[in-house]
Amino acid sequence: MYYQSTRDSSLKVTSAQAIAQGISSDGGLFIPSEIPQISMDELKALADMNYAERANVIFGKFLTDFTPEEINYCTSHAYSTKNFETANIAELTQAFDDANILELWHGPTCAFKDMALQILPYLLTTSLKKNGEDKKVVILVATSGDTGKAALEGFKDVPGTEIMVFYPDQGVSSMQKRQMATQEGGNVNVCALEGNFDDCQNGVKKIFTDQSVKEQLAKAGKMFSSANSINWGRLAPQIVYYVSAYAEMAKRGEIQFGDMINVVVPTGNFGNILAAYYAKNMGVPIGKLICASNINKVLTDFIATGIYDRNRDFYATCSPSMDILISSNLERLLYLLTGGDDAQIRDWFGKLASEGKYEVTDEIKAKLQADFIGGFCDDADTKKTIHDFKEKYQYTCDTHTAVAVKVYLDYLSKTGDHTRTLIASTASPYKFSASVLEAIEGTVSDVDEYAQVAHLAEVSGLPVPQSLADLKDKAVRFSEVIQKEDMENYVLKKLDII
Ligand SMILES: *Cc1c(COP(=O)(O)O)cnc(C)c1O
Repeated sequence: MYYQSTRDSSLKVTSAQAIAQGISSDGGLFIPSEIPQISMDELKALADMNYAERANVIFGKFLTDFTPEEINYCTSHAYSTKNFETANIAELTQAFDDANILELWHGPTCAFKDMALQILPYLLTTSLKKNGEDKKVVILVATSGDTGKAALEGFKDVPGTEIMVFYPDQGVSSMQKRQMATQEGGNVNVCALEGNFDDCQNGVKKIFTDQSVKEQLAKAGKMFSSANSINWGRLAPQIVYYVSAYAEMAKRGEIQFGDMINVVVPTGNFGNILAAYYAKNMGVPIGKLICASNINKVLTDFIATGIYDRNRDFYATCSPSMDILISSNLERLLYLLTGGDDAQIRDWFGKLASEGKYEVTDEIKAKLQADFIGGFCDDADTKKTIHDFKEKYQYTCDTHTAVAVKVYLDYLSKTGDHTRTLIASTASPYKFSASVLEAIEGTVSDVDEYAQVAHLAEVSGLPVPQSLADLKDKAVRFSEVIQKEDMENYVLKKLDII
């Protein structure tokens, strides 16, 4: 198996090269040349394995240039109780009627990004070694809040790497800001941007693909890579937990092996739900993929109409990690749906860059709608869902998970489809304590984030994650805010290049 660029199918690299590079030099995303299959017998065998062993099986199918020893080195270091607060790594909850919630936030930063970013540094440093690369890797990250912290934790003090994170100054929760501002490590840098997430992501993409920046960096013995979900090394680990969850549901008798399940994913950059699509196409019996958005519902509209249009107002919501108007990983899906038509992808994504809009053909729209259901939910409904779900089931979910729950309930009442459903829960409620408390109690809390955490502990009865409890005693190390025009200069200066 090799990896090709969504904008140039003739470009072929190994998975180690794709992971090290992050994004293709033509601006396209790396994608495996085929989708490996998993048989029902293999799925059954997963049931008796721990999470790291399940990951070995899936990675073995995608990272065909890695040896089993290399893969095992990566998975065993990443998926252990040293980093995760549960031995199951991804925690499948009891069923709520027809649905199970898959808690993906028991890692060090309390969001699902840890599932991939705990392992990415191992995958990346192993890739560099395999490629014979001796340059120092500079990880540039654009974050809507959770990726930044998860990447910082993953890469802090990893030899041969440096990491730089940009986040929208007004676009993250106070806990997210605190987590990043207090980041420890000698190779880390954090900077706020006057702008929104799309500005951060565009800025980073531009720096990445700028030939002169690349040359200046090379002269200094450095190279860029990405920890955003444009990097295949982020996507592959996310496929694992969908396959693993299916085996786990069958093991527990929630389903029989072979039964269909639906999957609901609170979506922003389309990485998480794309991983579910891969799991489905590997042969895991997954029916509908339900794509849940907040009021920034560019994806809901796209699935309904086939028109992707980012020319619209941008809203800051209580589910900030989904406040995104350009969902990067959609490019990978469309590449797959067009059967690898790179010219078509260049055309659409060229239009997205120049006009902010493109329309897919009726044929592609039909393919899209065969697998995906889109739905959205505003802040008022998000909060009502947190409130009602807690009343009914004594389960406290965060704002992002609540969007998924609400969109699922809407789907259920519209279709009466009682297929057993897996809902991806993407963050600990403690990460968004203010909004969660407001939802449960109906009043806006005016105490600081630590008092909110303490209060939420009383209200929810959930243990406070150790990493959030520890933040209180940490000093703020980063407080700089810059303009988006200054990003490139900022990066080059911090890297001692100018
Ligand atoms: C990143 C994030 C999402 C969106 O995931 P995508 O892969 O970007 O679609 C949803 N919820 C939370 C809490 C996140 O951190």
